[in-house]
Formats: sequence, structure tokens, C-alpha cells
Amino acid sequence: GTACKATPFRPSVRKQGSKDSKFKPKKSLGQNFLTDDALLQSIAAAARLQPGDRVLEIGPGKGSLTQQLLQAGASVLAVEKDARLVKQLQSSYGQRADFRVIEEDFLTLDLSQASQLHPAKAHGRLIAAGNLPYYITTETIKKLLPWGHTFSALHFVIQDDAAKRLVSPDASEVRAINVEIDFYSEPKYLFKIDKARFSPEPTVDGALVHFELRQPSEYLLTEGRTSFMKLVQHAYLQRRKMLRKSLESLYSRAQLDKAQERLGSKCSLAARPQELSMAHLVHIFTVLQEAKHSTF
Ligand code: SAM
Repeated sequence: GTACKATPFRPSVRKQGSKDSKFKPKKSLGQNFLTDDALLQSIAAAARLQPGDRVLEIGPGKGSLTQQLLQAGASVLAVEKDARLVKQLQSSYGQRADFRVIEEDFLTLDLSQASQLHPAKAHGRLIAAGNLPYYITTETIKKLLPWGHTFSALHFVIQDDAAKRLVSPDASEVRAINVEIDFYSEPKYLFKIDKARFSPEPTVDGALVHFELRQPSEYLLTEGRTSFMKLVQHAYLQRRKMLRKSLESLYSRAQLDKAQERLGSKCSLAARPQELSMAHLVHIFTVLQEAKHSTF
């Protein structure tokens, strides 16, 4: 009997991935794909898209989430850095009028172009969504937060530990980024996604987070926001120090004295950043700016 030698064992499972077998995911681009349609559908559903809404999808990969977003009635502008995937997306969805893919690094994308580049000119909400490559999570969120005049919400799959750090940090873990998030948005942790659901499997679990962006006027006018963020960054750079100490590089001693007089004891410059609510911080900022421009 030589029959055994002649027919090598070929598991039929192999065949399933054969179309894709030449594709080697790049770790450096954070390529961990989601393939479970039911899960992808619930990710898209949680964005509560209405027909006519527009999505800027970051890192569409092979288009598994894209498909669910389109199915929900949204039009999609997809930004993908990997040329191999751009080609694949182009051939799967390129014919559709409600889809466009551009080959670009999201971090260098000019957001003021997002609306013009979008395939649909409809006036639904514009939402940024995606199963993000983990290495650009923080930068991506920071980049989009101040764009409440253009984007209604951010809807991202990120690492679970990052999701917790960004959305619900312990009081002692609050960083400048958390203040920025609270200032610009209402953040929500929606649900955890087990690492086994990704392919290839990453070392940590993921989670779906949602940031409903505020309109810029809700707290401060646009020009004030950059200066306010500077104050927040300075305050949290040395978050165990009194506000007054950390702000010495931004305001003169006379300005700080003047502001302290105006503030009284309730929200003193002697406080540490963690002891202050967002409303307190904004109030302190307003008084400091007035002191700087000597309006009292
Ligand atoms: N959305 C797909 C899914 O859920 O299966 C893929 C998600 S995968 C975690 C991240 C995707 O982002 C990859 O396709 C990767 O090539 C792409 N990517 C990585 N860095 C990027 C960047 N700077 N700008 C745009 N896309 C990027």
C-alpha cells in the first residue's frame, strides 16, 4: 500500500481563506481585522446612523465595517494608508456612488477637506468611525475633538485599556487628554470586544467607544479654546502642583494676583487641577484672560 503517500491530507478549511492567502497583515499598521458580521453590525448599529448620514471611516482595511455602514444607509469616505487594501476596496466598492476611498495617512489628512472629498453631498450628520489602528488612537481622537462644527460624533474601536483610560479614568489617573475629551465631547464606553474576535489576534481586548462632539460655542468661542487647552495642558503637566505654580509660565505674577482677587476662595488658584470641575476651570480661565487683557 502506497495509497497513503500519494494523497496528502488537505484540510478543507484551508480553502476558505484562499482568496486572501497572499495578504500578509502588517503589524506596523495595526492590522487586526474584524470579520464577524453580527459583531460588525452591532458596532454600526450603535452609531445610530440615519439614511443620509455621512461617515469618514479611518482604516477601513478590507471593508468589513464599511459594508455595515453602507448597509445602515450612510455614505462612506474611507481613508486607508495601505495601498494593497485601497486597491481591494476599490474593486469591491469602487462602483458605488455612496463610497470613495482615498490612500492617505489619516494623521496628515486635512480635515477641512473632509466634506468636499466625501462622495455624498447630502446634509446628514458627519461621523468619524473605524476600527482604529491602535498606534494612532490618541492622536486621532485629539485631532478630531475640536471639530465639533464639522463632525457630530466619533465612533471607534480601540484597545480596552485605552478606552477605560480615556472615558472613565480613576480620579488619580486624570490627564490633560481627559479634560480635553470632557471639554469637547460627551464620551461613552459602549462595549468590550474580546481579543479573540480580531484576526490576527492582538495581545489585548478591544472596546467600542463613542464621543458625541459638542458645538464649539457650548463652552467657549473658538479662539479661546486653544488658549484654554494650553492652560489645561500646563495645569496637568504638573498635576500635583497648585494651579498658580503651573500657570506662572503663561501669566505674570500681577495677572495671577489680580485673578486670584477676583476668584475668591471658592475656586482658588491654590487648588490642584483634580479638585476642579470643568466649569471651575473654564471660570478660572475666563478670569485669567480678563486679567491679562486688564478688563478689570
Ligand atoms: N476596519 C477594518 C476591520 O475592522 O477589519 C480594519 C481595521 S485595522 C485595526 C486598521 C486599519 O487601518 C488597517 O487597514 C490599516 O492599514 C489602516 N491604517 C493604519 N494606519 C493608518 C493611518 N495612519 N491612516 C489610515 N489608515 C491606517
